[in-house]
Amino acid sequence: MKDCNQCGKCCIKYGDGDLSATQEEIDLWEIFNPGIFDYVKNNEIWFDPKSGVRLNRCPFLDIAPKTKPDEKDKYTCSIYLDRPEDCRHYPSLIAEMVRDECEMIEVSDLSKPKQAQIKLDILMQDSRPAHFT
Ligand code: SF4
Ligand code: SF4
Repeated sequence: MKDCNQCGKCCIKYGDGDLSATQEEIDLWEIFNPGIFDYVKNNEIWFDPKSGVRLNRCPFLDIAPKTKPDEKDKYTCSIYLDRPEDCRHYPSLIAEMVRDECEMIEVSDLSKPKQAQIKLDILMQDSRPAHFT
């Protein structure tokens, strides 16, 4: 199991309507982060604040500046500390990572999925919400 290399596949895949936010998160954004709340409509995320149309890509997904011209794109989250719980949980299961071609997975993880899950759970401790771990 490797560290996340910021390939962006998860945010690209799930940021187009498959993410949800809790009522508590939405209420906090409304008070403290109106720039995020602008993209909420009827308690769902993410919608264009002007047209009200659902976005097909998360508006907070950015491409990091390259350090070398031939470097692969690396993605960052511009609301990292305030991102939805849904995003904090990912990746949660080995099968999901295989399905999504998450680049944290190594060949050795495939033959030992139980050990890989344990390594993943340790790696994700700081990201997942406290009540989950
Ligand atoms: S809010 Fe951040 S972590 Fe979540 S999908 Fe968007 S860019 Fe990715
Ligand atoms: S798909 Fe995996 S490696 Fe790529 S950004 Fe998401 S968690 Fe990181």
